[in-house]
Amino acid sequence: MAKIRTISPLHGPVTQSFMDQIHQYQLNFLCEQCAFFNEDTGLCVHGYPNETHRSDYFKQPIDKVLIFCREFELD
Ligand code: SF4
Repeated sequence: MAKIRTISPLHGPVTQSFMDQIHQYQLNFLCEQCAFFNEDTGLCVHGYPNETHRSDYFKQPIDKVLIFCREFELD
């Protein structure tokens, strides 16, 4: 497995353990679950780059970096 560089304490590697916890605790943190997500365009209404917060990013999550969006608002 490639080593993931930690950018800051708020960013870390996406691990299988984290992926398991998403399902176990039904965690919501994706753009598609956010009130500021435009379903028609796939973009954030605030104009933030959202590729790393989209569900597609987590389809093959291992060896990627987890970056939480601070603007997330549960829809
Ligand atoms: S505020 Fe953050 S989580 Fe919500 S749609 Fe925009 S980028 Fe995604």
